[in-house]
Parts: sequence; structure tokens; C-alpha cells
Amino acid sequence: MYTRPFAAAIVLCLAACAPPPDQNARVDPQIALEISRIKAIDNHAHPVRPGDPPDTEYDALPVESLEAQSDPVRTRQGSPELINAHRQIFRGDKARAQKAYGVDYANRVLDQLNIETMLANRVALGPGLAPPRFLWVPFADALMYPLPTDSLAHNSDQKAFFALEDKVRNRYWTESGVTSKPATLDEYLDKIVRPTLERHKAGGAVAEKFEMAYLRTLEVGNPLKADAEKVYATGTGDYKILQDYIFRFIAIECGRLGMAIHIHSNAGAGGYFNVAGANPMLLEPLFDDPYLRKTKFVMLHGGWPFEHQLTALLTKPNVYLDFSAQTFTNYPREVSHAIRAWLEYVPEKVLYATDAYPFAPPDAGWEEAGWIANVTGREALGIALTGMVRDNEISRERAVELARMVLRENARKLYGLK
Ligand SMILES: [Zn+2]
Repeated sequence: MYTRPFAAAIVLCLAACAPPPDQNARVDPQIALEISRIKAIDNHAHPVRPGDPPDTEYDALPVESLEAQSDPVRTRQGSPELINAHRQIFRGDKARAQKAYGVDYANRVLDQLNIETMLANRVALGPGLAPPRFLWVPFADALMYPLPTDSLAHNSDQKAFFALEDKVRNRYWTESGVTSKPATLDEYLDKIVRPTLERHKAGGAVAEKFEMAYLRTLEVGNPLKADAEKVYATGTGDYKILQDYIFRFIAIECGRLGMAIHIHSNAGAGGYFNVAGANPMLLEPLFDDPYLRKTKFVMLHGGWPFEHQLTALLTKPNVYLDFSAQTFTNYPREVSHAIRAWLEYVPEKVLYATDAYPFAPPDAGWEEAGWIANVTGREALGIALTGMVRDNEISRERAVELARMVLRENARKLYGLK
């Protein structure tokens, strides 16, 4: 045991001799530590059900149906980050972990990422993906297409996607107990659209997801009902008028039912993806519609490459965003620029998310995508907050508070979670 003066000298020496905090570190070590400790709510992901039979419900429009494209560097097979992520998840042995954990496997994946709750954007949840760790976000696009869609497919990717939407549409019609097209648009809305949304809500859904940007542009008009009815009844004319009318009906119903609307608002997968048509600025008329103010909209993926324009949209009272997907296509520094701009403007509307997705299992599964997005997202958040502290915009305490808001509190409030 040390004598008291000696111990005091050691304490003094420790204080004096300790290296100063690294002023050049990309992320302030204390902020990094706090960020690493926060159990996150992941606003958007596609977890896969463990075990057999193989899960095909992790997306309404799986990306494996796409023609080959030039993949972003970070996501390419054999990229060092992908290999590292694979080594990190269950020490590189997912197969053994799946066997050992069985139905608890997906929960254990969340534990590895320090994610408490993951919003699972899937056609259905199922065994091994249960609340409260996984909350359901089903798909609503198929409801926008009550008529045949052959005339809407202009390339092989869209052809594959509309065929997949037909499957979801058939599912919703069957679940609604309807076998043939209802006679009028009102009947269609009453017998299929509203009941499907109500079933989703009763099944625990917290939001409805639109993958609209893969099928058409995000520009949604405000057509007259009579014009939409005419297209529905005759099966001719401008199909978009009918889609737009139904979209607005769904958005109003979601507001009534207390479900948010999630919209893919970013560049997307595939060499035919219409990037300009996915510009979230096209959504502004919806955000400004007084009839839709009770509906909360979340722009998924943070709008890259339009991410800075989204900053201005955050002032709409019912509009939020998350930064999923950017966090495995882009590097932390790039993502941090967007996060910082948003946090400097309306920090209450910014949500952490991964978009963990099974791109090419087994080496690039939802686990690896989740790992990369989680590490990148937390680091990007740390870089943004560190910059704000160093520029005297906020205190260190406020930085930690903002980290908690982004990683969990903002989502908790948005979805009314405990
Ligand atoms: Zn997604």
C-alpha cells in the first residue's frame, strides 16, 4: 500500500503527465466513448429471418432482381471493409452463431451493433424477428397499382420490380378477401386499401414504406377525384393520376392511424435508377399540403446526392430524415458533412439508421451491411459533433445530448415508443 503523500504525488503526476486530449482526433475521444455506449433505435433496416425455409420477405423489391451495375467501391465484393465486417460479426463464424442461438440469432446481431430496437422494413415479420427488438414497417406501393402495370415498365429492372409488386398486390387483395377488381375506386379504397392499412396497424406496424423511387418519380400531384375515378373505371388514360390520388389517400389514412410514411429519398440501386426523379425536393408539395399535416413523413437515406437540400425541408413540422444506406455507400467524412448541416438546423428530426440489407449473403449479409453502416454512422455523427464543439457552436454536454437524440430519443418520440 502507498503512503498518503506518495499516493497524492502519483495522482498529481498522473494528472500532469497524462497526454492532453488529442485535438487532432477526428472524433473527440470523450464524445466517441459516449456515442459508442448509446443503445440505438435503428429507423430503417431489412433484417433476415434466421433458419429455414430461406427468407424471401426482407424486401418487396429485392435488389438481386437488378441488372448488374457499377457498384460503389465500399460495397464491392472483397472490399477490405466488407471483409473486416465479416470477421467482426460473431468472430467471423455466423454459421456457428446461427446454430447456437437459433430463433434468438437476430436479437444477438442487434446486440453486436448495440442496437436496442430495429425498424424492420419487410413484407412480414415472422419467427425470430419479434417486438420489442424488431418493429414492423410494411410496404404500401402495391396499393397504388390496382390496374395492370405492363405499360409502366420501361427497362428490365422495372419489369422485374412490377412483377414483384404484383405478388405483394395479390397478397393484399387475398388478405382483404377480394378476388376481382372492385367496381369503383371508392369500393377499391374501402375494401382493399383501408383494410390493408388497418391490418398492418393491428399487426404492430409503426410506419408504411414507399419504394416509389424505384417505380416512378417522387412527384405526386393532387388530381381531382373524378379524373382518378375515370382512369380506374376505364383502365385507360394517365395511370399516374390514379396512383397520385391513391398515394394521398394512403397518406391521410396513415395520419389517422398514427403510422408514419417512410419514403426512399436517395439515389438507389441499379443502373437504371432515376436519380433526378428521387430528389426529395419533389416531395415538398406533399409536405405543404394542409390535409397531410397530421401525417409524419420520414425521408429515408438522407437524400444523397441532394442531402444538403433536405436541410431546408426539415423546417416542415411533419418531416424527418434518417441517414441509412449513405453509411455503407459513402465514407464517414462525407456523411458527417450532411449530419452536421442537419444538426445545426433542426436536430430533433434527424434519425440514426443502418439499412442493414442482405446484398450478397453469406459474406455480405444484413449483418455485415449493418456492421459497416453502424460503425460509419456513429463515426460520422462523432465527426459532426466534434466539429461543432471545436467551432464553439455547442458545448460538450450538448454534443452528448444531440448524440442521444439522433441515436434514439428522436425516434422514440416520433413513434411514441417507451
Ligand atoms: Zn431499405
